[in-house]
Amino acid sequence: MTEVVGIDLGTTYSAVAHLGDDGNPEVIPDEAGRLLVPSVVSFANDPPVVGALAKIAQADGETEVAAAFKRHLGDPRFVLSFRDQEFDATDLSTLVLAKLKAQAEAFLGKRVKRAVITVPAYFTHPERTAAITAGRRAGFEVLRVISEPTAAAIAYGFRAAPQQRTLLVYDLGGGTFDVSLVRITGDEMRVLGTDGDHRLGGADWDGRIVSHVHHLFAEEFGVEIGVDDALTLLARAEQLKHTLSARQQGDILLDFAGHTARYQVTREKFEDLTRDLLDRTEQLTRQVVADAGLGWDRIDGVIPIGGSTRMPMVRECVARLSGHQPLGGVHPDQAVAIGAAIDAATGTPAPHGLAVAEGSGGRVGIRLTQDVIAHSLGMIAENATGSRYVNSVLIRKNLPIPARESRPYQFHLQDNGENLLEVFLTQGETDHPEDCAYLGRYVVTGFGPGTGGTVVDIEYAYDSSGVVQVSATDRTTTRPLLVTVDAVPPDVPERFAGRPSGAGKRGHTTVYLAFDLSGSMAGDPLAEAQRAAHAFVGQCDLSNTSIGLIGFSDRVLVCQTATQNAGAIGRAIEGLDVGTTGYGNRAHPFDALYDDLVDAPGARYAIVLADGRWAEQDRVIPRAARCHTAGIECLSIGFGSADREFLSRIASSSEQSLFTDLHRLTESFTTIARELAEGRGGHIRDLTPRYA
Ligand code: AMP
Repeated sequence: MTEVVGIDLGTTYSAVAHLGDDGNPEVIPDEAGRLLVPSVVSFANDPPVVGALAKIAQADGETEVAAAFKRHLGDPRFVLSFRDQEFDATDLSTLVLAKLKAQAEAFLGKRVKRAVITVPAYFTHPERTAAITAGRRAGFEVLRVISEPTAAAIAYGFRAAPQQRTLLVYDLGGGTFDVSLVRITGDEMRVLGTDGDHRLGGADWDGRIVSHVHHLFAEEFGVEIGVDDALTLLARAEQLKHTLSARQQGDILLDFAGHTARYQVTREKFEDLTRDLLDRTEQLTRQVVADAGLGWDRIDGVIPIGGSTRMPMVRECVARLSGHQPLGGVHPDQAVAIGAAIDAATGTPAPHGLAVAEGSGGRVGIRLTQDVIAHSLGMIAENATGSRYVNSVLIRKNLPIPARESRPYQFHLQDNGENLLEVFLTQGETDHPEDCAYLGRYVVTGFGPGTGGTVVDIEYAYDSSGVVQVSATDRTTTRPLLVTVDAVPPDVPERFAGRPSGAGKRGHTTVYLAFDLSGSMAGDPLAEAQRAAHAFVGQCDLSNTSIGLIGFSDRVLVCQTATQNAGAIGRAIEGLDVGTTGYGNRAHPFDALYDDLVDAPGARYAIVLADGRWAEQDRVIPRAARCHTAGIECLSIGFGSADREFLSRIASSSEQSLFTDLHRLTESFTTIARELAEGRGGHIRDLTPRYA
């Protein structure tokens, strides 16, 4: 039988682990008994040497050496040349993984085929794909890639009592910082949220020591330290940093450019020099906890992972934030490989079921049952007015993995029969194309004959390894379309900075906001509704959109007929007040909406906001239906004690009704504005599941 292993493919060190016959995980040593394999490749020999010997060669000044390449995984521009051959980060990682495979096979005396490989939680789609490719090229069947903090928590959970815990995994390695919030309940683990900084790690702390002493040296001797000495200086700075983890002060020798000096650095000075780096980790940590809607009192412990968590300043920061000392019991250098080994050995979890790994010692294993997506994934679309490009998000950050989301897009077929739709897969949190990273170009073809508008459903599927699959269906024919992947062309992202070619040729949109002004809206509800309305208007392109405003309670008041004048709309929103139309709930806005919208030009929308039950609901429903029949798209938004069933009946379809809470009103309105702007007016099919 072949063995399954877990691999921590680290920036500085890698490790391979498996579950022993007794069910206990163990890290597999190399030929000299070392558990950590430096992620370093030396090409001084043929074949190349990987691991400890390569690191020694590097320390001896050998230049034909590659190190720290993991941070370039998935980046096609990173290419190193050795012995007249080019190597990208995937090639170099393949060599490290092949070394780990050979090491495991030698130790276990049998073939090792299947592996779970870990990557930083912050790794994106191309980086994860590159890790999988490297694993396959090294001869593994890659079961999946999982995030390093997730693996660490699995390792921790393996030793924990099976009671619910919410844990923060703070992972500060050599080159990356990741923070994740995980919840372990019995033998089940869910990742509640994750964030990080791909370019922040122990090396930055080293860099601060280097700049500090470099400055002292230049001041004292009036000379700069040359680039040839940079690596030596860096290695000594790292050594000093390690000393300062154990002692209050240490010193560093600088014997460069014909001068020699020894500078003493105290821990206090070192901490001063690097405070902002620590602050950045603190800020990201706070954000993850806040985004999960948790307070620190709900966090049961903090798992420190990565060599840099040995710095006292990190441990103090974590303890101060969380009120807990960092948890022990898991070796910070081994936890990731051990967690990966447990995950590999216990197989693919059923989506909702539990699979319990029990060692012969009777200990309960933790199964990862839910991970989350680290970045929102979207595509570039034109807005409805065609005035600009927007990043239209399909899969939101922090959604559980695996995730599958689809959105409809309007697509205009040309009559020459060669229709081609370009989908640019983006990663980014805002709707601005310039804030996105571009992960791929997907070309959609196979449209049937015909001209004019059609609706294409684009679906993104994000699998348990963090790899995205894109598919597309033509709604008119219900046929799946052909999707091929391509490299992102060089004119992207600049292409999306300008106006779309058809800009200015689109039709007009008229939107009415109808707000409940009954007594229960007094105070915060009205203030929030006004804020949401301002945000909505801010999202609309008033060069092609007219907006009107209606208030209703016992009477109906058209506060502003549809206009493109931003000032007039803003003043009307400010003028909304409880009492101006009475305090009860006898009136409804649908007759006024009908009168004002039935002959309005272009697409017509009514967005009705309600916070309570309306009188004579049965009488209102046919009045709303009259609007629907006239082609007025009605959306309803409810909060507080609004009646969900009723709200869904007054909307054009149940999917165009959503129930939210007061604090998410602005978000809901902003989202709707964006969706209208993207020309999805008649097709807001996924409104409820995504935003309610
Ligand atoms: P990792 O990527 O998890 O192997 O972490 C490597 C980073 O941890 C490097 O920046 C090391 O300098 C740092 N590191 C290892 N040991 C210590 C220590 N005792 N004190 C401070 N940093 C350390």
